[in-house]
Amino acid sequence: MSGITCKFGGTSLADAACVIQVERIIKANPDRRFIVPSAPGKRNPKDRKITDLLYAWHGLALQGLDPVEPKQIIAERFNQLADDLGVDFDTKAILDNIDAQLQGLADDPEKHMHAKPDFMASRGEYINGRLLAAYLDATFVDPADSIKFTKSGRLNPDSYELLGTHLKGDGLYVVPGFYGSLPDGRIKTFSRGGSDVTGAVVARASGSSLYENWTDVSGFRMTDPRVVSNAKRIEEITYKELRELSYMGASVLHDEAIYPVRDVNIPIQIRNTWEPNSPGTLIVNERVSDQPVCGIAGQGGFSMINIEKALMNKEKGFGFKVLQVLEENGVSWEHMPTGIDTISVVIKDEELNGKGDDLIEEIKARCNPDQIDLESGFAMIATVGQGMNNHIGVAGRLCSALAEAKVNLEVIDQGSSEMNIILGVYEADLPRALEVIYNAFQDWK
Ligand code: ASP
Repeated sequence: MSGITCKFGGTSLADAACVIQVERIIKANPDRRFIVPSAPGKRNPKDRKITDLLYAWHGLALQGLDPVEPKQIIAERFNQLADDLGVDFDTKAILDNIDAQLQGLADDPEKHMHAKPDFMASRGEYINGRLLAAYLDATFVDPADSIKFTKSGRLNPDSYELLGTHLKGDGLYVVPGFYGSLPDGRIKTFSRGGSDVTGAVVARASGSSLYENWTDVSGFRMTDPRVVSNAKRIEEITYKELRELSYMGASVLHDEAIYPVRDVNIPIQIRNTWEPNSPGTLIVNERVSDQPVCGIAGQGGFSMINIEKALMNKEKGFGFKVLQVLEENGVSWEHMPTGIDTISVVIKDEELNGKGDDLIEEIKARCNPDQIDLESGFAMIATVGQGMNNHIGVAGRLCSALAEAKVNLEVIDQGSSEMNIILGVYEADLPRALEVIYNAFQDWK
């Protein structure tokens, strides 16, 4: 395997100064040949993301309204970028073409080819990819022709081979992130932040030895730096550990990005465009360092359904019926700690989406519990490390740290992987809990 795939996020491509920095990074290593750009992100906190403007444009077109404002802002952004980079680029023609494709959307959305906003959202990456390819003198490869989704919207694994055939030469390639196409030819995007997934697909399709994901942070920190400002950088982490840390990882790397590369053993390196000398975090199948705990992730916004029934452990199918109610209501759950006569189900508030009372009523009707209630305002904390299953005292250390800090523990749960202990605390206790757990484990070997 040779070559490196480099995905650059929206903040790494926000203006010409960013693109020049990106060019420096690419040129610093001739193996960096497969470039995956996001759409330009915000240049400052008040700025707008190109992708958000495109969604707004689609929303207006869907209602038959004039999209002049988002269209103009997008035109100005790309024109300025092209001018500042000295690239001869016809933004107007591309945007007029988009306008033409949207004709008749409001009249007959049912039949319109681009009724879903995916086509519009993808144009940010498409235009940026074209511009970047022109600037870098690279070959532009449109993922609409080579990253394929199945009818049900999942990535078709044939894409690796198909895309690979377009990346065979020696030169530099630009493959825009975020989108591909459905079997009927319509554009489909991954979920938000999905250029990370494209990067992984390109890494696998091109046979890269490394997938560098360039962003605006120098890798993952052992815990949330907004809570523990000097939290250490994680040098190396396994794919499995990262999954278990998904309460913190998603904002840095899309959680579907690991699958295309994990099976073929291509490491992902999270790197900072503005600190290119920092090695960031390397995500691998097996890590060398044996630190028992590598990360602590916490997130608020959880609720808990608590159910009690005498002799629950003897009643066959009790848990099944509870979960069936959730399934029928389209609600997925996160954790399910149990006792002898009790069961709790921890659910994200956004999943619950106001359906809590209905769920309680249905569970009452179907399971006839002695007691059932719904409580919200919880935070869940995952303390993760592959070294934990053969290291005595992790849970003891964790609980003592929280006890000393007078943080009340509402939930304790450990999955079968034995690389993760989940704790539930009240949301107000989350920062303090993260801080004391971090202090207890940062140097523990
Ligand atoms: N531009 C898309 C988004 O804003 C995809 C990406 O940046 O990865 O979500």
